[in-house]
Amino acid sequence: MAASTACLSGCLGDAPSQSSSQKTPSQETKNETDTDPEPTVETEPESPTLFLDGDPREELWDVGDQWRDGTSLDEWDVLSGSIERSTKHQYRDFPSVRLTATDDDGVAVRVPIDGYDLTQTSFSLAMYIDTPGTHYSPSFDVNAPECGQTLEFRTRYKIDEPGWIRYDLGINDISNLDSTTESYMTISWGGNDIDWYISDLRAVPVNQDPCLFIQFDDSLRSTYDTAFPIMRQYDIPATVYTVTGRIGNTGSLTLDQMNEMQDAGWEFASHTQSHQRTGELSLDEQRAELENSKRWLLDHGFEQAASMLAYPFGSFTTETMDIAADYYDFATSEQRGAINRRISSPLSVNRHPGDNVKRSLELIDILLDDQIPTDTLVLCYHDVIEDNDPSVDPDGLRETMAYIDDQGVTCRVTSELRDDLFRSESSSSSHTATDN
Ligand SMILES: [Zn+2]
Repeated sequence: MAASTACLSGCLGDAPSQSSSQKTPSQETKNETDTDPEPTVETEPESPTLFLDGDPREELWDVGDQWRDGTSLDEWDVLSGSIERSTKHQYRDFPSVRLTATDDDGVAVRVPIDGYDLTQTSFSLAMYIDTPGTHYSPSFDVNAPECGQTLEFRTRYKIDEPGWIRYDLGINDISNLDSTTESYMTISWGGNDIDWYISDLRAVPVNQDPCLFIQFDDSLRSTYDTAFPIMRQYDIPATVYTVTGRIGNTGSLTLDQMNEMQDAGWEFASHTQSHQRTGELSLDEQRAELENSKRWLLDHGFEQAASMLAYPFGSFTTETMDIAADYYDFATSEQRGAINRRISSPLSVNRHPGDNVKRSLELIDILLDDQIPTDTLVLCYHDVIEDNDPSVDPDGLRETMAYIDDQGVTCRVTSELRDDLFRSESSSSSHTATDN
């Protein structure tokens, strides 16, 4: 089964003789018979290829249960601002709910949650925010009597262009619940001047063993010099998001170092070729950044995580995601919060910076609390050097890894999270990831 699905992507594999500037998926389709006349189904069944077959987002569209869309607002209790049903912006074919803030009180609505065990349920939803260029911090607080907690799914991210983006909500914090037996979600935004639509709210089961994933961005020299020895001491592997155009430069990893780290169980994913704000580039430049970096990883023997991407500065748009879908089946931004294992938004996966050690330890405690619906935590880091405030210093990284070791948390590389996801979601789909 695995081999046969992998073959489908093998068919769309890159021919080495073609230059990157000539390659777009539409051209590839058009030229298919010229450039790839023979069936290649039997060759390289498990090798990742430059182009993926199918959009990974579609494969995970129907994760969990749809709990709400904009069809009926009968049970939406408006606390401030106003809401209306909208068909102006629909996500897939689902109507949306438009939330409008008032100048003083923002907007807040309360929606009852029935029929879910909130110790084992997380949430995801699609959002369209028609106010680009601003940082945006909506809240999704869940009153969860089963846990005796309010679960705070707060996120913060920048919208580069309007468009539907799907998000899996990660728990950012918890607080004790006052005496109530009602389960509901309060959806709110404290600012004004926002044009905000949401749809396809899904309840997502969370019931696997807790697992932690460590990532380093920017392929910096300190990742080898400082982080790698600390992590080895605790036998914790990591995924490095690599700026492929900088390898060998001063301050960056060398190819030899990358090979040594890979031999020790680390893996290397894409952080684009030159680390620009991807969402602000022209579409041709975006494609070149995304394609060339993956090609470099494949050409240099780093296949395992070559289909995974982190957007530099968390900058991406829906058009960036459309381009990414040609090459990547897992892409991460810079939202904050733990995530649950059943990701429904593989090209906008959230993660949490590990720079604040106290906060990291709190999130690890949340991960390990079996009354809280979280089974996955991703901690990401950048430079690990002395006097690096507000980023983590070597002692802080060591303290965090020692805590992970002490608590017996299972740590894996991120490609295993990705592989689990697609393997469990759809053995029948044509999409395939690096299937090893
Ligand atoms: Zn970066």
